[in-house]
Amino acid sequence: MLRRIPESIVFICLSFLCSSLFACAQEKLSVHWEELTAPDFAKAIERSQGTCVLPFGILEKHGAHLPLGTDLLDVRYAVLHATEQEYAIVFPEYYFGQIFEARHEPGTVAYSSHLQLDLLQETTDEMARNGCKKIVIVNGHGGNEHLLPFFAQSQLQKRHDYIVYVFDERTPSTRGPVRKDSLDMHAGESETSKMMITRPDLAHLDRAGSESGADQHHVNLPDGVYTGIWWYARFPNHYSGDGSLATRELGKFQMDWWIDSIAKVIRVVKADANSLRLQNEFYEKAQHPLDTKQ
Ligand SMILES: [Zn+2]
Repeated sequence: MLRRIPESIVFICLSFLCSSLFACAQEKLSVHWEELTAPDFAKAIERSQGTCVLPFGILEKHGAHLPLGTDLLDVRYAVLHATEQEYAIVFPEYYFGQIFEARHEPGTVAYSSHLQLDLLQETTDEMARNGCKKIVIVNGHGGNEHLLPFFAQSQLQKRHDYIVYVFDERTPSTRGPVRKDSLDMHAGESETSKMMITRPDLAHLDRAGSESGADQHHVNLPDGVYTGIWWYARFPNHYSGDGSLATRELGKFQMDWWIDSIAKVIRVVKADANSLRLQNEFYEKAQHPLDTKQ
């Protein structure tokens, strides 16, 4: 009896330890693609229900006061916090987007347009080959606003066994602390405020007024007429707004909104069974359009 009691206690302790270790191991599955071992990657695909996130940034000037990688730093901060709420695998640093309009500024990396599309296609193809059947591209860079919907549309060109979702919202529309910056389009109050949360050591507010982020109106064309030089014509310093108005309060409000919004998107995407079904139906019909009932 005296020998049995400790054994049963040991057994209970061991089972408790094992189950908590198991729970612990489950909790510790990283969301970072590059941090997972190969066997853990397979578990991560199962846990995420094949849902993976590609945070999309860029290397470009952000006024005289924010880092070149602002968009990538901010979007990864938001996605990594969102995936703590709703598990998904997060693809490593990706900054191969559209940024021709800032080629005149130091530190900008602008890949050719065909390379942007090819690299993105091969990246999502490779993600899907590894089990990511639902890929959420979370955009952190305004200059990608046409590239990403076009990329999503071009998935209908030929058959893919996965769906591309694009989430392209970074700033809440009305609620929260009142914004004072009327332009606020690039490196202005919102982006500077968010950097005060993401990497406060890289937000140099004292330099935000050293150049103008005002609209220069160098070209006046009617609404509906688009030219590639429109941005340079309005903001030749690649700065739009006034970063010196930034506050931590606004940054926290906007970042919390962004994190929650991404987490919601991931949840909705996981539950979405229709998009892939309809995409497959579409591919099938596209093989023989004359049979499609009018
Ligand atoms: Zn930016």
